[in-house]
Amino acid sequence: MPVVASPADPRHHVADPRARLRQAGLRVTAPRQAVLGVLGDHPHSTADAVASAVRGRLGSVSTQAVYDVLAACVDAGLVRRIEPAGSAARYETRTGDNHHHVVCRACGATADIDCVVGERPCLAPSDAGGFVVDEAEIVFWGTCPACRDAGAGTPHIDADGTSSIPSR
Ligand SMILES: [Zn+2]
Ligand SMILES: [Zn+2]
Repeated sequence: MPVVASPADPRHHVADPRARLRQAGLRVTAPRQAVLGVLGDHPHSTADAVASAVRGRLGSVSTQAVYDVLAACVDAGLVRRIEPAGSAARYETRTGDNHHHVVCRACGATADIDCVVGERPCLAPSDAGGFVVDEAEIVFWGTCPACRDAGAGTPHIDADGTSSIPSR
């Protein structure tokens, strides 16, 4: 298994997938290690992107097998699933810190935003109406630097008139 050279965001780096899997009580398998490695290198990937990257590392692994690994890792708290409106679900290994995301309306590029006001403040709503809250999701929408350079500074509508990411 290749060593992760330079993950996009070091906080996504999975130092030792085998140890993480064992700590989580999951059996160590090659597909599970590969999925965690791929997500460390490419945080916020879709399941399909993870599947093709895993196949690049291991050879033939079915997309369904990768979906199953992702589901098991999400259940075990090793992977977080985020679902920006209008996008396929994305996965990342940076879990448990309640960080938020900024998403480019034009190209869908996704980046991490640290919790805005200190430690998980969003978990204490002024009135939760009796609900026990365990997660708060905040998505910031905008235009990424690459798209801004390309002149896509305004909310983006595709040539066919549809917008893959809803403007709000
Ligand atoms: Zn963009
Ligand atoms: Zn993230």
